[in-house]
Amino acid sequence: MITGTTRLLGLFGSPVKHSMSPAMYNYCFKKWKIDWRYLAFNISREDTEEAIKAFRVLRMRGANITMPCKQAVIPYLDWVSPAVKLSGACNTIVNDNGFLKGYITDGEGYVMNLQSHGMDIQEKRITILGAGGAATAIQVQVLLDGAAEINVFNKKDGFWNLAEEKIQKLQDSFPNQRISLYDLDNQELLQEKIQKSDVLTNATRVGMAPLKDVSLIQDTSVFGERLLVTDCVYNPIKTKLLAAAEESGSQIADGLGMLIYQGAAAAKLYTGMDMPVDEIKEHFFKSES
Ligand code: NAD
Repeated sequence: MITGTTRLLGLFGSPVKHSMSPAMYNYCFKKWKIDWRYLAFNISREDTEEAIKAFRVLRMRGANITMPCKQAVIPYLDWVSPAVKLSGACNTIVNDNGFLKGYITDGEGYVMNLQSHGMDIQEKRITILGAGGAATAIQVQVLLDGAAEINVFNKKDGFWNLAEEKIQKLQDSFPNQRISLYDLDNQELLQEKIQKSDVLTNATRVGMAPLKDVSLIQDTSVFGERLLVTDCVYNPIKTKLLAAAEESGSQIADGLGMLIYQGAAAAKLYTGMDMPVDEIKEHFFKSES
């Protein structure tokens, strides 16, 4: 029942109509007997400032922020986390008595997904394919969590110049850890770096439609028991990369895990409660696994 004291939370961005967030959060609020409701709001980048004004006036408890508002929202908040400052993006807002705090939970979701597969990222070496939004959030979080070395491989496409700038900035902020950017076309170097890594992550769009049948790793001899292979792509859940890695003996962690854990990290910020991740997976995504 919606009451006179029901509080509102929501998703801001565009498009949002296919988002699973309303179903997942409302399921949790009901389970936890919290008098809150969560709706999806179609907000353009240009309307971000007005949306945050409305958020304040309506005293909403929280909001998840998705594209195209993840960067645009930052100037309108009262405080942002170190990860937001470093990545330049925000996906979660919490309203603490009128004081708006901004967080980014994509990287946290990634790390929690690794932990659920027994991987502690501290002192580890990681190779990341991609230098876009998801890759940046991951780079920032694994640096904050003490990873020793991060090798980022990207095509020399429209992301390259910005990636060079961002990675230099991260290297300056974390002088005792190493982060480097390499050309994805240098397959020999890529293989060499993967062989010395504990984790390989695909954070590009390769693996989802229209590149569903493509994997950026041609030589499957780099896979094996000592390498955890993860993908940010969650549609399909088992990408071509993950299927090949599993067949060659690597442990795999899929993008759906990262997606649910980033939602769990946001839920924790809103409520202090731990989202029942396995139950959510079973309830909402069983048919897709
Ligand atoms: P983005 O547009 O910011 O970055 C795209 C990246 O893909 C860039 O590094 C680009 O160089 C690379 N790329 C694109 N086409 C390529 C190709 N043909 N070959 C090699 N590299 C190519 O996108 P994003 O927001 O970082 O999202 C990347 C992927 O991660 C998407 O599939 C997205 O759905 C997924 N994602 C998942 C989660 C999660 O929680 N699981 C969160 C965020 C994003």
